[in-house]
Amino acid sequence: MITPIRLIWLKLRHRLNWRVIKLFMCMGYGVFMIALVIHMLQSNPGPVKALKSSPYRHLYLEEEIPPEIVQFEKQIVPGLGEDGKGIEIKDKKLLDETVKKYAFNRLASDQISLKRTLPDVRHEACKKIQYDDTLPAASVIIIFNNEILSTLLRTVWSVLQRTPPEFLHEIVLVDDASNLTEISTVLPIYLKYRLPANVILHRLVEQVGLIGARLAGAKVASGEAIIFLDSHCEATEGWIQPLLQRIKDKPNNLVIPSIDSISDKTLAFNGFPGGVGISVGGFTWSGHFTWIPFKHNGTRKPSDPAPTATMAGGLFGANREFFFKIGGYDEGMKGWGGENLELSFRTWRCHGSMENVPCSHVGHIFRDFHPYFIPHDSHGINTARMAEVWMDEYKRLFYMHRQDLQREIPSPIDIGDISSRVQIKDTLKCKSFKWYLDTVYPDKFILDDQSIAYGRIRNQKYPNICFDHLQRDTAHKNGFYFLGQYPCHNVLGDSQYFSLSRDKFELRNEYMCAKSFDNEGSIKVQMVGCRDQQSRKTAWKFENGALIHVDSGLCITAPNDSAGEELVLSKCDGTKQQMWDFEFLNP
Ligand code: UDP
Ligand code: MN
Repeated sequence: MITPIRLIWLKLRHRLNWRVIKLFMCMGYGVFMIALVIHMLQSNPGPVKALKSSPYRHLYLEEEIPPEIVQFEKQIVPGLGEDGKGIEIKDKKLLDETVKKYAFNRLASDQISLKRTLPDVRHEACKKIQYDDTLPAASVIIIFNNEILSTLLRTVWSVLQRTPPEFLHEIVLVDDASNLTEISTVLPIYLKYRLPANVILHRLVEQVGLIGARLAGAKVASGEAIIFLDSHCEATEGWIQPLLQRIKDKPNNLVIPSIDSISDKTLAFNGFPGGVGISVGGFTWSGHFTWIPFKHNGTRKPSDPAPTATMAGGLFGANREFFFKIGGYDEGMKGWGGENLELSFRTWRCHGSMENVPCSHVGHIFRDFHPYFIPHDSHGINTARMAEVWMDEYKRLFYMHRQDLQREIPSPIDIGDISSRVQIKDTLKCKSFKWYLDTVYPDKFILDDQSIAYGRIRNQKYPNICFDHLQRDTAHKNGFYFLGQYPCHNVLGDSQYFSLSRDKFELRNEYMCAKSFDNEGSIKVQMVGCRDQQSRKTAWKFENGALIHVDSGLCITAPNDSAGEELVLSKCDGTKQQMWDFEFLNP
């Protein structure tokens, strides 16, 4: 029999059960939803994996491929150019015409497979390095104006073939308003039928120049890292990991691969593994990029990245956020040039760094001229913008080379508004250009600050006559020449700017140092590259107006008052022909 107590218990249990059941149902639903969310997150953590799971736009049957593509691909001769080999074009006249027109051998490019093999030129030390399994995925940005289609597509395929898919977020192609039909019509079709969905094409309606095009690419890119390549490159095995690793380890570090050469005549790929010695970037006061040997203490390994003061500019990678944080590129720069020094100075000054990464190898076709429109003197005007913003008081040394661009002097050249670029320095509390010179590039010779005396050197007997390089100076190319004399210019320009250096007593300009040279009995003042000179041979004394070569004890003499004569070294005799006045003396 059911006692009243038991009856109550049963009723309670009945009601409890429902609650418990409801409770369980709710919990079950909750668990299910959480599991679902976890599952979705795991299978789709972001766009990277999504692209990986569907890399193709659509797989087409060969008979569906449009004739434009068939035609284009028909030019390829199987086997040619494999393993990075070059092709000799027998018809020299045709070769000359082609190179004259396109700045490189497009005939060879059209015949070589878009997916040709390349030698693995990495140093053995590089091949042993284990990079992280997870690295920031990159947007590879390739900009172009009227690039030869086969060359552009070989660049694209070299990236697709030699980049592990998990590290390739996308390839962004930026067509800077090309008008070659190959680019405007065949490329979009090729993209649709032959390339994976993570290759995107962004077409600019008007040619904006390389700075604007790169910036447009970086703006549409969404990878954590961005890597810029020129449109005539070939990436080699293992090219991306060393770059991405350094970007991951140090997001404020811009990274530059080893740039191997692809011959403009034969398209042969010439890679060089590199060793303990490595070249890094420097600059000239005239505002150009140069290569300089990296100074290391002997413990450097061939695979070690090397800090570099500047970059050549075409090929580099960055953390996308950092690139934009420090101001991307200067949108006021037009055409071609100047942006590489601007980005270099800005990066270092605004708390970043840059390094050459020797384990990453990318080939590049170096061309002798630019086969596209560039607004007049865009390099000079862009560099003037850069100097105004980033060189502080040292801009004087740039303007010494380009007086025509000096803003203080009325001129028809307008470098445009730079106020927003100047603002960056305040916003980011960037360091000074002096800090950059002292810390990042201490070897850079500063013509005035580091000298006892500098400027025009005027003769006392012939006060109209000054030292002059007679346009024989090849700056960082270090071609030697005899120093001459010329009527003193009204303004101090680089041909008459000489310094007596404070530390080594060199009589010199930016790169070239004076020494004596016996030229068949007549002893001349020879200018030679300062680097690697024995200081005994290049030391001078400036005493009571005489410029005395320490090693020989001879004095610099103006032979007469004629323009264009070479200076001579003769026995010191105290005459006015051997007496010189420096324009400026430092205390
Ligand atoms: N470029 C561009 N628009 C221009 C000029 C250049 O998109 O108005 C591209 C060009 O196609 C190349 C890159 O910018 O991919 C760098 O130019 P180039 O290779 O001529 O420079 P270089 O390597 O000689 O310094
Ligand atoms: Mn290039």
